[in-house]
Amino acid sequence: MFRVGSGHDTHRLADGYPLILGGVTIDHPQGLVGHSDADAVLHAVTDALLGAVGQGDIGDAFPDTDPQWKGADSRIFLRGALDRVNRLGWRVVNLDVTVFAQRPKLGPVKAAMKANLAELLGVPADCVNVKAKTGESVGHIGRGEAIGCHVVVLIQSFTAESAEGVEENRGSN
Ligand code: MG
Repeated sequence: MFRVGSGHDTHRLADGYPLILGGVTIDHPQGLVGHSDADAVLHAVTDALLGAVGQGDIGDAFPDTDPQWKGADSRIFLRGALDRVNRLGWRVVNLDVTVFAQRPKLGPVKAAMKANLAELLGVPADCVNVKAKTGESVGHIGRGEAIGCHVVVLIQSFTAESAEGVEENRGSN
C-alpha cells in the first residue's frame, strides 16, 4: 500500500531575520518571517507528511497561537509529523522538494538541504530530491518578497498487518 501527500508553504522575506531552509542556515542579508523559525521547506515537508496520513496540517498540529512554538526550530514539527506517520504504520519512500526563491541562489545549498532532509526523515540520500526555481522576476517570489516551497512525499505501509492498523485508526482520528 502506498499513499501520497503534498505540502506547500510561503514566508515573507525581511531584513534582520535568519534564513533557514531545510534546516540549513544560509548566509544572506534577509531571512524569513514567521511565528517559528519560518523554515518554509520543513513546513511544507511537515504538511506533506500529515497530508499523506490524513492528519490535517501543520497549523492543526502546532498552532501559531501557541507560545511554545514561538521561534521554534521547525525540525520539531517535521519530527512530530514523521512520528505520526510511523506510529500509523507507514514509512517514507521518497520526497521531492521544489524551493522557489529569486534570491539567494540556492544551487550551492541544495546538497546540504538534501542531506539534512534525508537524515531527518531517516531515508537514504537518493530518496530525497531538492530543486530550486527562481520566480522569473515576477510575482511575490520574483520580486524577492517571499520564498515558497512545494513538496510531494510518497509513503508505504510497513506490512500488511500494519496497513490494517491504519484502517482501524481512521475511525479514531
Ligand atoms: Mg510556514
